[in-house]
Amino acid sequence: MDRIVIVGAGLAGGRVAVELRAAGFTGGIVLLGAEEHLPYDRPPLSKGVLSGRVEETTLPLDLDGVEVQLGRRAVGLRPGAVETDAGPVSYDGLVIATGATPVRLPGEGPQRVLRTIDDARGLRDALKPGVRLVVVGAGWIGAEVATAAAKIGAVVTVVEAADSPLQVALGDEVGGQTAAWYGQSGVDLRLGVSVREIGSAGLLLGDGEWLPADEVVVGVGVRPETGWLAGSGLGLDRGVVVDEHLAAGWDEGGVGPAEPPVVVVGDCAAWWSRRYGRRLRVEHWECAQGSPAVAAATLLGGEAVYDPVPYFWSEQFGRMVQVVGLAGEQDTLVWRGDPTTVAEPAAKRAPGWSAGWFGPDGRLTAIATVNRPMDAVAARRLIAADTVIDPARFEDPSVALKNLAAAA
Ligand SMILES: Cc1cc2nc3c(=O)[nH]c(=O)nc-3n(C[C@H](O)[C@H](O)[C@H](O)COP(=O)(O)OP(=O)(O)OC[C@H]3O[C@@H](n4cnc5c(N)ncnc54)[C@H](O)[C@@H]3O)c2cc1C
Repeated sequence: MDRIVIVGAGLAGGRVAVELRAAGFTGGIVLLGAEEHLPYDRPPLSKGVLSGRVEETTLPLDLDGVEVQLGRRAVGLRPGAVETDAGPVSYDGLVIATGATPVRLPGEGPQRVLRTIDDARGLRDALKPGVRLVVVGAGWIGAEVATAAAKIGAVVTVVEAADSPLQVALGDEVGGQTAAWYGQSGVDLRLGVSVREIGSAGLLLGDGEWLPADEVVVGVGVRPETGWLAGSGLGLDRGVVVDEHLAAGWDEGGVGPAEPPVVVVGDCAAWWSRRYGRRLRVEHWECAQGSPAVAAATLLGGEAVYDPVPYFWSEQFGRMVQVVGLAGEQDTLVWRGDPTTVAEPAAKRAPGWSAGWFGPDGRLTAIATVNRPMDAVAARRLIAADTVIDPARFEDPSVALKNLAAAA
């Protein structure tokens, strides 16, 4: 293989270039990125960049010897060549790393999303004390934007169609515990409220109410950025369909090695998980960080398997929230600590708690932790090892989860 082309210069795309070199690949590597920026980190955008603490988030990746073409967008694909807005680029091996794009809402009015560093800088400049900001969606991004905006002194309203924040990620019972955090930070959270359209100076809500706003941020989720692959023959099903080695196939909907080979990483990969016995697509930083090593090995003829326990973190309203694993529908929820406890006035941080999900066989399948990072670390080991643990010991916050992990 003489020339590998990577489409998408985000964390996942940049990391594949590094992993290919680390694995001994000495041929040409071309990294195509639609943005004008070298690969940069996105989690700080809604945290440090919005609050003005951080200006640059460029990733410390060694791209020496990599032909980086910025401002270059892939628009189509055929075996052996990527079509770009500046003509075709041929390849012997292809990496798809085009990430995801935020969903926008109907309406002619201005709406912001938060995906790129340019989005973040634009929003940071617009957030001023007294600005009326409406955030649509009380998911991860919505909560982080509301946190930063409230600190700046904006008048923040969050509208959410579901009955609780973080409903998709955590369910009503656990997500609902975060609702009080909004009010404590001076944010008006309106649940069960849908948005019909964005107008010129506000939003038309589902019940016909007009909600005025100076700024609107839409944080209702993302879609994998795969439009440029339509008609290419690659299997597309809420992401690019790949096997457990992250290899795509040319047969529509199928998996298996394409010729020339194609691998997919990060937010746009819908990979087969041996652990969960189903296809997963996970829009988490750790997936973009971890999948490139497996994809590079696959491209170079190896047999590595990608099968992580999903992990995500978020910083909202002064709390560190971490989520590990995937809960099943039949799982039982067990609390660890009291999620309703309010911080003492003198306390530096809010009291921590966790919620664990247990499968019918007693295995811990997932955990959400709030200000209890050691629970998240230990739970990762417990979940990865399919450990059966006693819920009575789990629910006692004085019993270190790492001891349960050590005993397993
Ligand atoms: C504001 C924000 C905060 C986040 N916070 C957290 C967090 O706290 N914890 C966590 O786990 N995760 C977080 N995430 C998610 C995490 O950042 C993503 O999972 C990760 O960035 C995915 O990396 P990626 O390389 O797959 O995709 P991306 O980062 O989306 O990179 C894809 C790149 O490909 C480019 N591209 C797209 N289409 C084309 C094309 N046709 N041709 C050429 N280039 C193209 C895009 O411009 C982009 O630069 C956050 C994301 C955002 C946006």
